[in-house]
Amino acid sequence: MELRGRASYELLLERVRLQLRTKSSASGEREIALRPSLFHDERRTIVMNFRQLANSLNREPEHIARFVFKESGKPGTLEGDRLILNGKIGDQEFARLLQLYFKEFVKCPICGGIDTQIQREKKFRYLVCEVCGARSPVRKI
Ligand SMILES: [Zn+2]
Repeated sequence: MELRGRASYELLLERVRLQLRTKSSASGEREIALRPSLFHDERRTIVMNFRQLANSLNREPEHIARFVFKESGKPGTLEGDRLILNGKIGDQEFARLLQLYFKEFVKCPICGGIDTQIQREKKFRYLVCEVCGARSPVRKI
């Protein structure tokens, strides 16, 4: 019993480390390490450090949240630093969602740079790269 209890405690603290290798305008190569910290209860998944993850990706938490809701098919809410999802999402699955978001909405498809911004123009959205100047259309979410 005691061993089993300890094992589940360790499982709870398990974090996925997500390495995102990129280029940046300042230093050439750069790496972002994201460590989503997930907590599960019976029906929900809580991302404890969601705002911090958004800061690392240099994007609005609301934007990433909409992406996660849409791609996972699970609704949720932002509460302070946390993202609360109604439903269960495993660590690996959440890490995969972040990776997809990064690929689509952060990383420049032309040069691989991450010093990028999303610009709005009427109903269109563009990923604008400060490294190479490319302007790539992205979908609205
Ligand atoms: Zn670029």
